[in-house]
Amino acid sequence: LQGEGLHIGIPSIFVRFNNCNLKCSWCDSKYSWGWEEGKHDWQDVVKFIKDAPVYNHIIFTGGEPLLRENQEDVMKIIQNVMVADSRITIETNGTIKPGLSLQLLMKIRGLWSVSPKLQFIEKYTPAGLLWFDLQKNTQWKFVITDIEKDIRIIYSSLIEPGIITTAVDRPVVLQPNGQTPNYNTACRELAEYVINNNMTEFKVLPQFHKICWGNQRGI
Ligand code: SF4
Repeated sequence: LQGEGLHIGIPSIFVRFNNCNLKCSWCDSKYSWGWEEGKHDWQDVVKFIKDAPVYNHIIFTGGEPLLRENQEDVMKIIQNVMVADSRITIETNGTIKPGLSLQLLMKIRGLWSVSPKLQFIEKYTPAGLLWFDLQKNTQWKFVITDIEKDIRIIYSSLIEPGIITTAVDRPVVLQPNGQTPNYNTACRELAEYVINNNMTEFKVLPQFHKICWGNQRGI
């Protein structure tokens, strides 16, 4: 099930793409940074999805699904598995603007789940992030490692310059770094910081899959 963000708790199928243009120190899927044996083409993925018991929420994640070499496969899979009640989420680090065809495909029932990496904030261009912010179907999500420092960067680099806008129906999701040894404490400290500072533009959520299954691979 989706363990993060505004769709937390929904049974889902994850399609994980290999390779990423960022290399975050806390990445929980470092195994996706290179090729591995047993890789699949898009037809294999379509077959797997169609054979699965539940497939009305499909999440494309990575690595980075919006790398140029991945976008065509993302589109082919979506085009071949969309049914009447399908929902699609594309999880991206927000460094790459999707091509026009994918933009159009995602307008139907898609969610852009954009998680800019604060460690690399200088690599982002305001125009690239603004494009995501202008989409009605975007959620912003941040992994928080150093509470004070990271939230300061979110305000000073993104919210105050108007690059990302916040609204009651579109809160910015903050989640503690899932690699933190004492995860419960990390959740509580982040929640208390947001409450005590009256930061109403944020929504604090855990990574639900970490609570259920820990740091196991494949969940
Ligand atoms: S952007 Fe995501 S997939 Fe890429 S290295 Fe960072 S955490 Fe890992």
